[in-house]
Amino acid sequence: MAETIFTKIINRDIPADIIYENDHVLAFNDINPQAPTHFLVIPKKPIATINDIEPEDAEIVGQLYLAAAHIAKQNGFAESGYRAVMNCNPDGGQTVYHIHLHVLAGKPMGWPPYQNNLKQQLP
Ligand code: 5GP
Repeated sequence: MAETIFTKIINRDIPADIIYENDHVLAFNDINPQAPTHFLVIPKKPIATINDIEPEDAEIVGQLYLAAAHIAKQNGFAESGYRAVMNCNPDGGQTVYHIHLHVLAGKPMGWPPYQNNLKQQLP
């Protein structure tokens, strides 16, 4: 897969506000936050989309959630709650093709996440 900006962040070729790292994952604050707390958890192994996750990557994907929960507990918002979401391809809103878990916290999240009322669009 083509190298993305996230590989450059992993390699420290460009700066990021890194908040957590272990052998498998890196977490850093989103450059364009959509909530009072908004960080990304990425695998160090580049995987383009959810569709490209192989069975042998299952542990790595689990590590993304373990890191998210660890950071949430360390920063005191595990109990109040947060949203952890991964976008896939254009309709999912994905813009960087290196999988990443968005973790958003610090305010109540709405649901569903889209704005349109789909019922109004039905004939
Ligand atoms: P996606 O749209 O692919 O689900 O999410 C990509 C996220 O990466 C966006 O929320 C965007 O703000 C964030 N992002 C893109 N480039 C950078 C960057 O260079 N640094 C940081 N910290 N975040 C970035």
